[in-house]
Amino acid sequence: MTVHHELAAGQVVAGLSLADLDAVVDGLLAGVAALSGSQASARLADVSRSAAKLSAYRVALVAKIQASQVWRDNDPNATPASFLRGELALDHSEAKADLRAAESCERFPELAQACRDGRVARDKMDAILRVGLRTTQRERALPRFLNIFIDLAASAPMSALRKALDLWADQIDPITTATDENAAHQRRELHVVQLGDGVKLDGFFGKTQGMHIMAALNGALDKQWRDTTAKTGSSGNGNSEVSGDGSVVQVQRVAGSTARQRADAFIDAIITPILAHNLLPTAGGAPATICVTIPLERLQNPHQGADPEGVAASITSGTLRLGSATLRATNGPGDTIISTHTATELSCDATVQRVVLSPAGKPLDIGRKTRVIPEHIRTALIIRDDGCIFPGCEKPPAWTHSHHIHHWSQGGPTSLNNLALLCPRHHHKIHTNNIPITLSADGKPQVHTQHRTPDRK
Ligand SMILES: [Zn+2]
Ligand SMILES: [Zn+2]
Repeated sequence: MTVHHELAAGQVVAGLSLADLDAVVDGLLAGVAALSGSQASARLADVSRSAAKLSAYRVALVAKIQASQVWRDNDPNATPASFLRGELALDHSEAKADLRAAESCERFPELAQACRDGRVARDKMDAILRVGLRTTQRERALPRFLNIFIDLAASAPMSALRKALDLWADQIDPITTATDENAAHQRRELHVVQLGDGVKLDGFFGKTQGMHIMAALNGALDKQWRDTTAKTGSSGNGNSEVSGDGSVVQVQRVAGSTARQRADAFIDAIITPILAHNLLPTAGGAPATICVTIPLERLQNPHQGADPEGVAASITSGTLRLGSATLRATNGPGDTIISTHTATELSCDATVQRVVLSPAGKPLDIGRKTRVIPEHIRTALIIRDDGCIFPGCEKPPAWTHSHHIHHWSQGGPTSLNNLALLCPRHHHKIHTNNIPITLSADGKPQVHTQHRTPDRK
C-alpha cells in the first residue's frame, strides 16, 4: 500500500490524521521482508528525514499548547513543564527540551524550517539550543552562527556537532568553560570501600586530575604490553602497530577483558612499584606495605580444620582472630580474613618475621625480618627462567614473583631447584589449582597444567 499526498506549501489537508500515518508505517513494515539490502539502505535515509519531520510536528504541537494556556485549565499553579510531565509522563529535562524547542520556533525560524524539512533531527536541534542558549553571551552570539550549525547538523554526525558546539561555546563564552571546569573539580571524590569479599573503588575527577589518571593507567597498560613484547621479540604473534617514529611495534594481545587488564596494570605497574620502592612512608616512618599474619601450623597444614575445643577456648579468651590468616595494610584501619591458600601464595616471596605468642595472644619473642628469597638467588633465578615459566606466558622477570615449588613453611628449601619465576596471574593460578611444577633433567622448571588437584581433600 502506498499513500501519496503531494502538498504545496501552506496547503491545508482536511481529513488527514496520525492514524493515516500509522497505516502507512504498517504498510512499510509489511514490505520490509521483500526489500533488497540496497533498497533497505536507500529507505533508511528517508526514514531519518521523516522522523525529523514528525518531531517538527511534535514541537509545533508543544508550541500550540504553550500559547493556548490549556496547561493551567485544571491547576492554576501549573507550568507548561509540569503539564507536559503529567500528560506525557516525561521527566523534567525532556519537558524542558520540548519547551525550549517550541519557544525557539518563533525566535529561530530557520532552525524550525530545517527541522520541518527533515534536515535537522530533533536530538541535534536540542543540542544546538541547549548549548547555544545556556548563557546570555551565547544567546546573543547564536543567530550569527545558526546557519553554520544547521548545515553541520545536516551533514555531520552528532559527535562532530557536539564537539563544534563545545569549542564555539568556549571561544564565545570562556567564563562558563572555566566555571564548569571548576564545578567539576569541586565534585572530585574517591571512595575506597572494604566489602566482604574485596575492595571497591568508585570515584569522580575533574578533567585535569582525570587525565593524569588516564595517562598513568594507559602508560601502565602500555608498559605491560611493551615489556611482554620486548621479551617475545618481533616473532611474537601480536598485532603490528606503527609507532610515532614510523617503526613497527608488536603489541601482544593479553588474555582477559580490557577492564580486567586495566585492573591488573593498575596493581602491577602502579601500586606494586610504589609500595616496593617505599615511596609512601607512614607517619611513623615505616613504609606503607601489606602484612599477612598467620599461625605457622596453618601454613604447615593448610587443609586441616581446627580442633573445635581450641576454637571454643579462643572464642572465650577473645583470641579467635589469631587462628586465621589475616591481611592488613600497615597504615590501614582494619584487617580482613584471607584463605590459607592466599597466605601461602603471598608468603612465597616476601619478607617474613616470626612472632611467638603466648596462649593469650601476647608477643613473647620477636624474630628479625628476613627476606625469603635472598638477592643472589633471585638473580640466578632470573638468569635461568627469564620471566614467567607458565606455558605461553611472556611476562619478563620484572613482573614475576619467586614461587616456592615446595613451600618453605612445609620444609621446602629456598634454593634454585625449589624455586620458579611466575607472573602474579600465573602464581595465583598455580596456588589456586595446586598445579604441580617439576624440574626437568636440565634443571628447567616444567608446569604440569594437566595435573590439577582439587583444593581440599
Ligand atoms: Zn608461590
Ligand atoms: Zn605468567
